[in-house]
Amino acid sequence: MSFLDQLIQNTVRPDVRAIGTYHVPDASGYVKLDAMENPYLLPQHLRDELGVRLADAVLNRYPPSYASLKAAVCAKLGVPAGYDVILGNGSDELISLLAMACASQQRRAVLLAPVPGFVMYARSAQFAGMDFVGVPLNDDFTLDMDAMLAAIAQHRPALVFLAYPNNPTGNLFASADIERILAALGESGIAVLDEAYEPFAQQSFMRRLPDHENLVVMRTVSKLGLAGIRLGYMSAAPALLEQIEKVRPPYNVNVLTQVAAEFLLEHLDVLNAQADLLNSARDALAAQLAALPGVTVFPSKANFLLIRVADADDVCAKLLAHRVLIKNMSKMHAVLANCLRVSVSTPEENTLFYDAFKASLV
Ligand SMILES: *Cc1c(COP(=O)(O)O)cnc(C)c1O
Repeated sequence: MSFLDQLIQNTVRPDVRAIGTYHVPDASGYVKLDAMENPYLLPQHLRDELGVRLADAVLNRYPPSYASLKAAVCAKLGVPAGYDVILGNGSDELISLLAMACASQQRRAVLLAPVPGFVMYARSAQFAGMDFVGVPLNDDFTLDMDAMLAAIAQHRPALVFLAYPNNPTGNLFASADIERILAALGESGIAVLDEAYEPFAQQSFMRRLPDHENLVVMRTVSKLGLAGIRLGYMSAAPALLEQIEKVRPPYNVNVLTQVAAEFLLEHLDVLNAQADLLNSARDALAAQLAALPGVTVFPSKANFLLIRVADADDVCAKLLAHRVLIKNMSKMHAVLANCLRVSVSTPEENTLFYDAFKASLV
């Protein structure tokens, strides 16, 4: 064995050595419909103004306190009065901060989530040293409440993650089910509502924070059109938020992100209008796809569609040959057999996708 192999074996955790790297495919030359990005750029006048603001950013100092950005987030994004937020380098970072804060050194703490769901929940649990428990969804992607409540009683999870709407299924779980989960957790567990797609679903638990001291509501600006700046935020009862704040690296949101986010929050109407366009485009594309023989399109409240075909691997390979990149979900979970996930994009890219998809079915 080489020196480096020996070194790695002696130092890096076995469970980390055993897994693969999170793979981000190289999309140059492809129509990129695999990551739920907003395809629209900012209008030119806003880009010019943003350039001026960024030029004035103080790069030689560590980021100052996030007070002004946090105040803008709270004011513009519906955080209840008296509630604060924690900002993260994307909501991915917030997920791992929660896991880090809740992992226990005595008994292995549990992070529970319905599956199929967002992959970072299981990863963050693993890296923090928590056990991940996945509870299968029903075939129609609703929560299997008997199974959820039984798993909560059995595993006593410190954290339950619910993506609202869920990724990759696109549906909103019934709010009555979520209320039952919050009640079942009581003071022994925190329910985290991951509202990454809230700009599209326009339904949220944010306003219900004062009713539930064991609720965390997490969101991101990524799907709204700012995936590149990496900014997520979450809110919860102040005393709980204070605990999680302790594990946040002090300078986790950089100055350029702060300046850009504050500027763009002044122009939220532009981004919200883009989200409205994508919502209409989603419904139009869904209707078009559903009319194709052998194709099932599942209802979506997000900026992507989950589609079942006869042979997902074959369709995916053919789409790649058409230079169209989407996500094959077939291997993720049994309920996703032969399912593909495609981001909704501009009318031009949606047409391009539709034509390539139709050609790939034969
Ligand atoms: C995309 C996505 C995120 C990640 O958001 P970032 O802020 O870009 O890290 C979180 N949760 C769900 C359910 C997502 O689909």
